[in-house]
Amino acid sequence: MKMASPEEADAVTQVFWNLNECMVPRGVDPRKIGPYIKRFVESYGYMGPLTITAFGVLTGFPDSILRGLYSGGINLSHVPAGHMDNISDHITLFTETEPAQANIISISEPDPGLSSWFGHMMGYNFLQPFSSYHVSFMNFLLEAASSDSEEDSEAETVDSAYWECFVCNRDPPAKGFENLKTHLDGEEHQELMLNWLPTSQRSYASPPPRNSDSHLKELPFMSIPLPPTEPTEIDHKAVTCVFWDIIKCPVPPGSDARLVGPSIKRFLETSGYSGPLTITAVGVLTQVPIDILRGVCSSGIALVNVPYGSGDIQLLRAVFAKNNPPPANFVIISDPDSDFPPAPRYGHLLLPSLPTDVGEPDDDKCSETGACSCHVCSAGYLGHSFQNFEDFATHLSSRAHQRRMLDYVPRNVRVSGQRRT
Ligand SMILES: [Zn+2]
Ligand SMILES: [Zn+2]
Repeated sequence: MKMASPEEADAVTQVFWNLNECMVPRGVDPRKIGPYIKRFVESYGYMGPLTITAFGVLTGFPDSILRGLYSGGINLSHVPAGHMDNISDHITLFTETEPAQANIISISEPDPGLSSWFGHMMGYNFLQPFSSYHVSFMNFLLEAASSDSEEDSEAETVDSAYWECFVCNRDPPAKGFENLKTHLDGEEHQELMLNWLPTSQRSYASPPPRNSDSHLKELPFMSIPLPPTEPTEIDHKAVTCVFWDIIKCPVPPGSDARLVGPSIKRFLETSGYSGPLTITAVGVLTQVPIDILRGVCSSGIALVNVPYGSGDIQLLRAVFAKNNPPPANFVIISDPDSDFPPAPRYGHLLLPSLPTDVGEPDDDKCSETGACSCHVCSAGYLGHSFQNFEDFATHLSSRAHQRRMLDYVPRNVRVSGQRRT
């Protein structure tokens, strides 16, 4: 994380933590986490007024965890499953009342789209200190567990935190952990909770389980987490799915885009992969010259246009995994700084650059063009697919597509705006 400049040092600092994506590990005293985050933030020179807010479907967490976080000075926001569970929703609400001199720290899966929106476009000092939510933030929590607690308990008081319920849209936020418990169990809250459930589930008073398919569909585009596990041995005979981050690892200048497909294929063949192979180029494709895209597509590589970029690869991988049970392998071509945790039970290979070799375009394969789809304009995860490359190219330059692309981040502004009406 970058050190505070003199102006940033005195400015308001707001930390948002997506609790849904990360459980507090066993053995970590939740009371220590708030003070530890505070010390972490101050160690980078951010000394202004600090607020830490954790949001999630709070009814899914043990009371002891919530009580501990709260007594450590962390505000708690209860959200209905599938709504307001994207960190950008909460940041957007914050930016509606705070001028751009504030520091915003996001504790969630890192998302370059959020940096460019809240940082570059809106002018906040937007920070994502944990390069991998599951590994580096988990380590941070374990460090918090071994931190000195005596000093902490003096510094924090139980009354410093507040709670908020986005099911009931209570205004203003309330205080007292016992009041939160009473509220979540209360009749008024339970009744309003029903409004958030799909019609088919309204006979039940609890939110849909997080693993169910219906919930998966409601998740925002980027937030399907994959738990950290040991990578599985690669099964070279199994199906192999290559995701190529075409923005971070572009076709080198002067080289023939039609050679990329055959080069990747030859590279994997000489590395022993003998199973069926699919290659998909993923990115904000309007940033890639159209001739490059045409060449790539003609060599049999599928093109997928996504709203954010490399972060979307994890979602595409999750969709592929859903339809292709193990054994199967994922090969991800992205820059060396990218952090892709292996998918559990799948083979995993991260290539830091595009395999290149000298050769001629494979004329036999010229007719096998890759499939093209746009995930910006589709309602579901399969993407809006196109019959051929020229239709796809026309779509990407169309006003309809460009409007959808522009809407992508500001959509959250509309979502949060509904609270006021
Ligand atoms: Zn409520
Ligand atoms: Zn589109």
